[in-house]
Amino acid sequence: MGSDPASQGTPPGGPLQLAGEPPRVHLAPLPTPLHHLPRLSERLGIEVLCKRDDLTGSVLSGNKVRKLEYLLADARAVGADTVVTCGGAQSNHCRATALAAAQLGLGCRLLLRTDDPSVPPPLEGNLLLDRVAGADVRFISRADYARRAELLAEEVARLSTAGRVPYVIPEGGSNALGAWGYVRAVFELRSQLAAMQWRETARDVTIVYAAGSGGTGAGLIAGAALADLEARFVGFAVCDDAAYFQREIARILAELAERFALSRLQVPREIEIVDEFVGVGYAKTRPEELRTLVAVARAEGLVLDPVYTGKAMHGLCELQRRTPGCLGTRVIFVHTGGVFGLLTAEHAGSLAPLV
Ligand SMILES: *Cc1c(COP(=O)(O)O)cnc(C)c1O
Repeated sequence: MGSDPASQGTPPGGPLQLAGEPPRVHLAPLPTPLHHLPRLSERLGIEVLCKRDDLTGSVLSGNKVRKLEYLLADARAVGADTVVTCGGAQSNHCRATALAAAQLGLGCRLLLRTDDPSVPPPLEGNLLLDRVAGADVRFISRADYARRAELLAEEVARLSTAGRVPYVIPEGGSNALGAWGYVRAVFELRSQLAAMQWRETARDVTIVYAAGSGGTGAGLIAGAALADLEARFVGFAVCDDAAYFQREIARILAELAERFALSRLQVPREIEIVDEFVGVGYAKTRPEELRTLVAVARAEGLVLDPVYTGKAMHGLCELQRRTPGCLGTRVIFVHTGGVFGLLTAEHAGSLAPLV
């Protein structure tokens, strides 16, 4: 433990209960490990650590599990018997929701986006796990996905009429309640950094993450404010643009501050988002991104995913190569999971020439 009296006697996962923290169900084995990536560090000329949030479970794994601990506690508290959520056909969030719902004895209804709902997408990767977990799946077009709020409301009405008690979880589990998952993750990190004597130099630490719907970024930034961790946070967008994520993260932070009366929480003046590595679009990959994914797997035995973490890692490596030191000299890469997205015929096809 460091010299900070506040951290004396704190368990390694951070405090058992955070001030203002809503109830949670324990789904993930926490704290997740913080691993050194020695060969990648040497290659990049900076120290790179990895917060292993891909280890929040086996099939129930990734960043969504942290959010679901709070969202599903709330679902239970209001007496829900079915959760309803939405995402892409290979959504990690939907797969984690389907499995966690089964674990808690809840039903699960998923609205999954696909190009042509009359031709169901292949039963593989996350979608296969959704079905194995017993989720009730409805495919919807991109046009319908754009009005998902309406469709979710329709599902709620339909389930209610059928005598069920539905609970809606937003896309990516990204709201103020879900963001608590990453507030807690920052308290874990603070304890882990203190144990490494890094606490004093947290100012020199840059925490890098992939941004998909903004909930992880909002939770991390809120956690830093609440845990007094003066780190820099850099989100790599995997869709949309920097302005979109700055807006979304600010919105979730404001909702967090208001709903949980966190007077210490302020929306920072600058929310750092890098949007030049979105590449050819959400869930679409370029060979250079996959080459980075393969290189990291071979150097460190760390498997990233093609949709989120692979892009963020590629961005980190590219920025450091172009402008050494621009992300500082100590980087913590948050591995938010997603391996099942890799295990699809589409990505296998793109990876085949590289492996
Ligand atoms: C959802 C997801 C993200 C993005 O997290 P948000 O909170 O939606 O921004 C990053 N990585 C993986 C693997 C994910 O499934």
